[in-house]
Amino acid sequence: MPELPEVEVLRRSLEPRLVGRRVERVEGLAPALREPLARRPLAALAGRRFVALGRRAKYLLADLEGGRTLVVHLGMSGRLTLVPGGSPREVHEHLAFHLDSGERLRLRDPRRFGLAYAAPTAALASDPHLAHLGVEPLSPEFDGARLAAAAAGRRGPVKSFLLDGRAIAGVGNIYACEALFRAGIRPDRSVARLAPARWERLAGALVEVLEEAIRAGGTTLNDFADGAGREGLFQVALSVYGRTGEPCPRCGRPVRRRELAGRGTYDCPGCQR
Ligand SMILES: [Zn+2]
Repeated sequence: MPELPEVEVLRRSLEPRLVGRRVERVEGLAPALREPLARRPLAALAGRRFVALGRRAKYLLADLEGGRTLVVHLGMSGRLTLVPGGSPREVHEHLAFHLDSGERLRLRDPRRFGLAYAAPTAALASDPHLAHLGVEPLSPEFDGARLAAAAAGRRGPVKSFLLDGRAIAGVGNIYACEALFRAGIRPDRSVARLAPARWERLAGALVEVLEEAIRAGGTTLNDFADGAGREGLFQVALSVYGRTGEPCPRCGRPVRRRELAGRGTYDCPGCQR
């Protein structure tokens, strides 16, 4: 499933090609992604130009003229790509924006957990999908103190905390495992028992791993590709995620896989305390 770095890679790849283009026609090719498209009519975006492409957590926010924003979430398997106008329609192509450049911005999503809707730009702060998102890890105000404050009064494993989007926006399973490895923290360590210095190390590790993944074009484990269809390369740099039994890159002990709150969790029993 695409995580924050993949959505940021997608944003950066689409931005220069999309901003300034006008939507000529919107085609809803199949009903029903996660939310019925009809309830928030995307057709109202026709005739408007894209003016900016932003991101909040794993949501892409494409602002258009006239104060409208196209909100897209890729769910488990969504792909948003810009293709030449004559490109054949693909299976699972749910939505197509025909642009004045002749190109087509298309959303395909075989598993249909994705989401696409239009909302007034001025009302995004109170949008039901966006309003409760936690601190953005790549924002300037993100640090150990911010992270510790988000965990105040909580208990439970630090890894589950990292996966809670109401606390921290957009960190999924892969990057939570990798950041905890880099910070030397056991995934099942209680958030109530982390000292300030360890929160600081964890915040630094999160930023580092997310930024490295963005530079590598994201992690392609099953279905991710950027706006031009290119796959990411960060999977080769993963230290523990998906590497059960392989030697830890630091101490050589075998990487361990356990279930934690129902999610496959990878760590090094030697390096993470
Ligand atoms: Zn180790």
